[in-house]
Amino acid sequence: MSSWRLSSGKLQELWRDAAEFRTVSSAGLSSGRALAVQLQRNNASEGTITVHTAAGLSLTEQAQFAQLIHGHLREAADSVERRRHWLCPHCHTPKGNEEVLMKRLERDGETARVACDACDRSIPLFDALERLLADPLLRRQAESLGAEKPQLTSRRKGKLLLLEVGARLTSANQKWQEISPDEDDGIDLQVEFTDDDGNGTGRFLYLQLKAGPSHLRRRADGREMFAIKKPRWIRAWTQQPGPVMLVIGREAPKLGKEDRVEKQRRQFAEPFDDRYETRAFPDVRWMEISSVLQQQMVSGLRPEEIKQIEFVGETLDMASVLRWRNRIVLGARCA
Ligand SMILES: [Zn+2]
Repeated sequence: MSSWRLSSGKLQELWRDAAEFRTVSSAGLSSGRALAVQLQRNNASEGTITVHTAAGLSLTEQAQFAQLIHGHLREAADSVERRRHWLCPHCHTPKGNEEVLMKRLERDGETARVACDACDRSIPLFDALERLLADPLLRRQAESLGAEKPQLTSRRKGKLLLLEVGARLTSANQKWQEISPDEDDGIDLQVEFTDDDGNGTGRFLYLQLKAGPSHLRRRADGREMFAIKKPRWIRAWTQQPGPVMLVIGREAPKLGKEDRVEKQRRQFAEPFDDRYETRAFPDVRWMEISSVLQQQMVSGLRPEEIKQIEFVGETLDMASVLRWRNRIVLGARCA
């Protein structure tokens, strides 16, 4: 099994005009390049992507690559049609009309055959490459090659939400710092409230950040529920030296193509028009969860028995941050 090393960086590059790829096994080839992908724009919304493979690249690698490309295109495009070229295995003459050949292959499957235009001998359309493409094991391997992307995306999403929340805290003139960015220990960020001169007060708030609406489930009665996947989160949330807030960021809605064009046009004409949201998380809400969970534990529930919590969040904005500051800093002073 080989992995793909993308010399052009990202698969998004596919949407530019060409990209080259190397495989680990092709690194020794004199040309250095094993595969090339070329995009031909047929019109504004349609294009043809052609994959060229170097001689000497194994059929398995060719098939994996075709699967990987096809999988990504299926995600990105409205409709994808695969074409391929066939050569006569006897005299190597190309066989024409790919659209017709593909239909024959779809119709006749493993028994699909056509005659060579040059030597008249029989060309099996379901050849070794098609057999590999139809192999479910290979399909799964190709999918796992492509699976790296969503993970990166979710880490990046988490980082974007952290920056958004940090910006809101900073604009309310409060101090904050990220806590153990690589560990999923239930707390992502620590806020230290400041006094009127901007100095730290030693009074803290702890934040757990969750990016994306998938963390909330709306019940039939309209209540939003947050599923607590790990009991150890509950231990972390109930054992901090200050209140713990659950913060949920909702992403900006994905824009359709026409919306994107309109957004670009408007931003050019009116740069400060905020009708088209540019932040990744325009909607960030938070709620205090530590006392809610402490109450449930006082009433006899063990952390393993608490599976969800109703999320009744308020918008995390400057006013809300300052309300919490007053509650905690002034509340401590009065006590
Ligand atoms: Zn032939």
